[in-house]
Amino acid sequence: MVDPRNDFDLYSVLYNSDPKLRNIITMVNTVSYIHQGEEPQFDNEFLCKQDYNLFLLLLSFVGRYNRSQVAKPVVSAVSTIGKFLRKANMPANKLPKAFAPTGQCVAGSMKLFVDVDGWFYACERISETSPDSRIGHIDSGFDIKQVQKILNFGSLINEKCKVCWALQFCSLCVDRCDSGHGLTEESILQICKMFRQDTHYYLCVILLLKYLGIDSIEVEE
Ligand code: SF4
Repeated sequence: MVDPRNDFDLYSVLYNSDPKLRNIITMVNTVSYIHQGEEPQFDNEFLCKQDYNLFLLLLSFVGRYNRSQVAKPVVSAVSTIGKFLRKANMPANKLPKAFAPTGQCVAGSMKLFVDVDGWFYACERISETSPDSRIGHIDSGFDIKQVQKILNFGSLINEKCKVCWALQFCSLCVDRCDSGHGLTEESILQICKMFRQDTHYYLCVILLLKYLGIDSIEVEE
């Protein structure tokens, strides 16, 4: 977890301090403040350094920069870019009959977070104040109805998803869609807007890569 309130360079120093850490395959994510009722506070300097490293990463795709010199938190964007590229390359004359945003894991199956009172949650990022986040309790086991609600949260905004240009790329999950008070149409739609902005950004990166003759990139899973 990367906290944007820290100096971005700290993370590079940390990873570069040990070759084992440097070479380990990691998924880097930023700390979520959404469920504290705050907008994520991204320091401007943090963002500038992150964007500059993203630029270096793009240069590494065309052999103009050594990828091992790019800050580790940014290198994990290769995986996101690779997934977008794969989806963008998939022939899709029409969508399948049944389709849903694909970012949600089967809650409780991938990993399980348990709080001190014994409540189960899908992961450590999820809101612990929302009744919709709980997927069971240590005394009663899993609440399958709640797991199903989380898995198919898209059904709350069915009609919006059907006409959304980002549907094919949608990777939203309940972590981002729950306001902290519950999963509602309003809480989901608020995040949809941000997600479409991110998708637009990644599609621009894909266009740039294609312009440079890059049709696929190797992703370490
Ligand atoms: S961004 Fe929102 S509206 Fe679009 S597909 Fe994803 S969940 Fe549905």
